[in-house]
Amino acid sequence: MSKYYITTAIDYSNGDPHLGHAFEKIGADAIARYRRLCGDDVHFVIGMDEHSQTILQPAAEAGLTPQAWVDKMATLFSNAYARLQISHDDFIRTTERRHSKAVVEIIERTVKAGYIYEGTYEGYYCERCETFKQEKDLVDGRCPEHPDREIAWTKEDNYFFRLSAFRDALLRHIDEHPEFVQPEIRRNEIRNVLEDGLQDISASRPQREWGIPFPGNPDHAVYVWIDALTNYLSAIGFPDQQHEEWWPANLHVIGKGITRHHCIIWPALLMAADVELPESVWAHGYIHWGGRKLSKSAGAPVTLESAIARYGPDALRYYLLREVPWNGDADFTWQRFDDIYNAELANDLGNLANRTLAMVGKYRDAKVPAGAETELDRRAEATLQAYRLAMDGLLLHKGLAAVRELTGAANVFIEESAPWKLAKQPGHGPELDAVLASLARSLGRLATLLSPFMPGKTRDLWSALGRTDQITPLSQYQVIDLAGRDVQRQAVLFPKIES
Ligand SMILES: [Zn+2]
Repeated sequence: MSKYYITTAIDYSNGDPHLGHAFEKIGADAIARYRRLCGDDVHFVIGMDEHSQTILQPAAEAGLTPQAWVDKMATLFSNAYARLQISHDDFIRTTERRHSKAVVEIIERTVKAGYIYEGTYEGYYCERCETFKQEKDLVDGRCPEHPDREIAWTKEDNYFFRLSAFRDALLRHIDEHPEFVQPEIRRNEIRNVLEDGLQDISASRPQREWGIPFPGNPDHAVYVWIDALTNYLSAIGFPDQQHEEWWPANLHVIGKGITRHHCIIWPALLMAADVELPESVWAHGYIHWGGRKLSKSAGAPVTLESAIARYGPDALRYYLLREVPWNGDADFTWQRFDDIYNAELANDLGNLANRTLAMVGKYRDAKVPAGAETELDRRAEATLQAYRLAMDGLLLHKGLAAVRELTGAANVFIEESAPWKLAKQPGHGPELDAVLASLARSLGRLATLLSPFMPGKTRDLWSALGRTDQITPLSQYQVIDLAGRDVQRQAVLFPKIES
């Protein structure tokens, strides 16, 4: 069994969870669940980035201390992720003691290695990104991630991290380990930034009341990105030896807007502190609404609440991961959501399950018969291969496309084998058995392949097939045996909704 440590970006505590937050956690959750299906020992961590200065204002407006505010937000995000069935093993918060301990260790090691010096920063600072920006990073004089806001010019005495010293080592690392930055479009972006040369960055900001005191000078707080990035280590017990059980991380899942933080600052910091680099960073794209990034500042035309309420959490997970390529952007529209729900979940998958269960109920008294292998069973092998190829390459939308082909093939198989005719023709018992058994096995396989995407509905389907145990690992996929199981005669997984 191999270990698989996967993380997502930790969320800012300054606003409610929205669809963008959910998309990233759902995608990472599908990957974590897929690795478990493959038999890996998975450790999946999400959490909260709580030391941003941007929480101070909403906290004050709510009449709460900063700590009380972030506590409240952590509960809010936790609850949302529970509803979405995110299967994380840990929820790290940067105000925790275990976290600050790790941050102090990283800074102390970096100081000791000679990569920290005192200086004055003068330039742009986007308070929403909590990031120092150069003129060339701006679009129309504004932060491209936050075009609705003026960007502030700041001048402050800081401790600096000698980021520029790592340019060559980073370039070499990326060229030798192309999997380090994915997908390819992001790797090219990072290569270009490195080719242009790096400027040193602040490692601290003047202390304002909120943040981790800079080791050796409590008038400064550790720069919030250095603080936040270290969560990937603090969550597994760094600097204690226990962190070696999981480190290096196999995958950091992040949004494309923070690729530079994760593929330049983070590895440079790890090199400075003499810690091994993570294997891979995957930067996913954005959900758009009317062609623009869906965000709080866009006026939240669709809330996470309304998106879950439409058809429940499983359907939302399916829609997002099917519609937004995991390596690109796509629009969210209610019309597409309705269309895909009705066509692919209610009709293709839901009807397949209903018809199969109803026929096993009617013709075999709700007990799956033993039956010979059919062309549909053989077809399933190709689906598994296409699915694994897509999922191993983290192309989740292609994984779903492979599953849809098996669903389609099973529906065609019903029409072509016409079990209702076989049932009326004497002497066709074994043939009918084979058809029904093969259809039941196909449903079991679909439950397996779809379980990373729709953990709730696939569990329902699994138990409708008479299985009370956990969905079996992928290694059992082809030999799945349901003969003799008592099935539910009816299971409406996805009720058809007339919109
Ligand atoms: Zn910004």
